[in-house]
Amino acid sequence: MYADVKDQLSEELAQIEADGLTKAERQITTPQSAHIATTSGEALNFCANNYLGLADHPDVVAAARQALDDWGFGMASVRFICGTQTQHRDLERAIADFLGSEDSILFPSCFDANGGIFEVICGKDDAIISDQLNHASIIDGVRLSKAARFRYANRDMDDLRTQLQAARDGGARRVLVVTDGAFSMDGYLAPLGQICDLAEEFGAMVMVDDSHATGFVGEGGRGSHEACGVIDRVDIVTGTLGKALGGGSGGFVAAHQEIVDLLKQRARPYLFSNAVAPSVVAGSLKALEIARDSDEPRAQLRRNAELFRALMGEAGFELLPGEHAIVPVMFPGEDGARKASQIADAMLERGVYVIAFSYPVVPKGQARIRVQLSASHSEEDVRACVDAFVAARDAVG
Ligand SMILES: *Cc1c(COP(=O)(O)O)cnc(C)c1O
Repeated sequence: MYADVKDQLSEELAQIEADGLTKAERQITTPQSAHIATTSGEALNFCANNYLGLADHPDVVAAARQALDDWGFGMASVRFICGTQTQHRDLERAIADFLGSEDSILFPSCFDANGGIFEVICGKDDAIISDQLNHASIIDGVRLSKAARFRYANRDMDDLRTQLQAARDGGARRVLVVTDGAFSMDGYLAPLGQICDLAEEFGAMVMVDDSHATGFVGEGGRGSHEACGVIDRVDIVTGTLGKALGGGSGGFVAAHQEIVDLLKQRARPYLFSNAVAPSVVAGSLKALEIARDSDEPRAQLRRNAELFRALMGEAGFELLPGEHAIVPVMFPGEDGARKASQIADAMLERGVYVIAFSYPVVPKGQARIRVQLSASHSEEDVRACVDAFVAARDAVG
């Protein structure tokens, strides 16, 4: 029976390979950090979401280790049966307090948070208006809802207005605008001030997925809603524990009480998937505490991003503008994709790990190497990365 399928799948795999789209995985032989080793040697890592350097922070590791003794290894249950320890509630309270919401609810991942929320809060009488470049998990989550769907061009406020009007003209009961807080391929923030203004004008709710912002964007690291001065105006924040906040795993929805309460009754990835592991909960709590209480990792990250942007500009590279720790180094034009991937390869040979992205992950002709700074990078690390860019450009020609 499998024989036919095997041939079909092999053909599909061969096509992916022929298109140059195969994603090869490098195996790391060390903890996730600024300095790592892979099976092919040591490398300076500029492609992790380890923005605050907490993935191997001694205090986070110690908290997780202690939790193994205090709380055991696994939960072996979904939350509503017997999968909730007091520390799960502690983490939810801490997330809510940090983000300025009434309450929060943990999910196995942010993918699951986004996968679960839309069908619960938006039904067939409602409308969801989504930024065109929103994360895959938002796209999938919206598909699971019976609500009418509208899409607006990335950060385009004229188009958002048009779509809000269309949703209202269609007679929608509830309207929800959803956007990534920071767009991962560009490092651009969503214009949340204008989005909140428009949402207010049209009586819509606002949801922000702040996976690439929670912990490090905004003065206190609370996220893009803090950076844009709209903490009190965003209704729903989803985010991940798998990036800046220690990078373990788990996601959350922080929102008004009724939304959180309803998700606990109805969200399918919450009801039918295992609770976040005890050591991950404890480590994440510690990571959140560090993000909340100490400005130094954020300051270091900011210095690193500023230095990198300045040095790369001086070296004549084209960058997308901004302040985010995601810094796209652009290789425009027809030949850009090949060039970006050759330069990334040449950099790895020089011990600097960066990733090139091209179509279909980013638009045609806008290939790039996405550099992600971390608080765990030293000034020397940042300079080494720039030097590797220059050397690789010289080598590739
Ligand atoms: C990484 C990411 C997710 C997924 O988070 P996980 O917790 O790893 O599932 C969701 N949304 C956005 C915008 C992300 O960047």
